[in-house]
Amino acid sequence: MNVLLLRFGELYLKGNNRYIFEQQLINNIKSKLSGENFKFEKTFGRYVISEYDKSREKFIIEKLRQVFGLYSLSPAMEVEAIIQKIEEAAKNVNLSCGNTFKVAVKRADKRFPITSMELAKELGGVILEKNPEAKVDLYDPQFVFNVDIRLNGKAYIYTEIIKCQGGLPLGSAGKGLLLLSGGIDSPVAGYLMAKRGLVFDALHFHSYPYTSEQAKDKVLELTKKLTNYVGDVNLHIISFTKVQESIHMNCSSEYMITIMRRIMMRIAEKICEKNNLQSIITGESLGQVASQTMQSMTVTGQVVKTLPIFRPCIAMDKEEIMAIAKQLETYEISILPYEDCCTVFLPKNPVIKPTIEKVLKEEAKINVEKLVEECLANEELIQIKRA
Ligand code: ATP
Ligand code: MG
Repeated sequence: MNVLLLRFGELYLKGNNRYIFEQQLINNIKSKLSGENFKFEKTFGRYVISEYDKSREKFIIEKLRQVFGLYSLSPAMEVEAIIQKIEEAAKNVNLSCGNTFKVAVKRADKRFPITSMELAKELGGVILEKNPEAKVDLYDPQFVFNVDIRLNGKAYIYTEIIKCQGGLPLGSAGKGLLLLSGGIDSPVAGYLMAKRGLVFDALHFHSYPYTSEQAKDKVLELTKKLTNYVGDVNLHIISFTKVQESIHMNCSSEYMITIMRRIMMRIAEKICEKNNLQSIITGESLGQVASQTMQSMTVTGQVVKTLPIFRPCIAMDKEEIMAIAKQLETYEISILPYEDCCTVFLPKNPVIKPTIEKVLKEEAKINVEKLVEECLANEELIQIKRA
């Protein structure tokens, strides 16, 4: 019988939480495969998916590879753990000429009548008989014929180990609010936090009519891509135009971005409060631009009083961030050339080391509270459904 063997790793480390984590992971797997027919079984520290439509196997594997908490999976043959049945499976192995291989047997069930070594030898013989050109190579084989003999009286035979996401089950770490621009970094930041089990809402600021409708569509599309990993996402959209105009008219231009960021953070914290979200996530990376120095992050972070700010890209190079964006398929969307609200009114010389005294002095020139209230009053909320 064809099955999929699923392996999970880090869950083992979680002591008392383990049960909750596991239940979450199982729910996430089942929900990811909703619409498919399949049987789900937990045995011997693996999950086994069986009785699924073999013609949909590729699709099912793709879906499972988006589930955090799974480490790897293998399409496998499940047979009764008796020598003849395992040999039959070995007879079906077809190695093209010259391929090197080895047989790796694991025997959890020590009642099995011969040792792992003996069985490996035996199966190696069967495979060689069928593929006379093939060679055994124990150290660097091109092909490994794995046989796991388990206590449930079954043997699982597989040749392929497909890497999955790793991480922790989505939903096991609470909820956050992702500040999502149209850029490359923030979708990656969301993905990285989701990988640690965090679900999130997203918040986008636009400056219509200075930014186009396409800039907003881009964010909808980015969010849609992220739903592959995080499920449905509530996207909060806030018009930032008035805030930017007000800062532009009243404050020193070099402090424009610093003050904008502080207002974004205040709004984010309020949205978190209202929606029971417990953290703020940004795509900042140390030193990438003027607003991402330690001093800048200090003065922007200061307005957030009650929540942690997670910046998972903080220590990453742009290249590394881009590599992940490509995997997520957000990269192609992010590089579309539409204006971001941060590029509107962009000052020539943004301050690199803002001081809190100067920021407060500049901020006093505008009515921060009122601007924040107005932004929140005109919030638009879109629910982006899982792709
Ligand atoms: P990104 O690639 O994510 O746009 P960036 O390198 O362009 O990042 P900044 O423009 O300095 O950097 O933005 C830093 C972070 O602030 C972003 O990663 C995002 O989390 C948040 N942010 C910036 N602009 C917006 C926006 N228009 N709406 C929501 N969040 C934003
Ligand atoms: Mg940006």
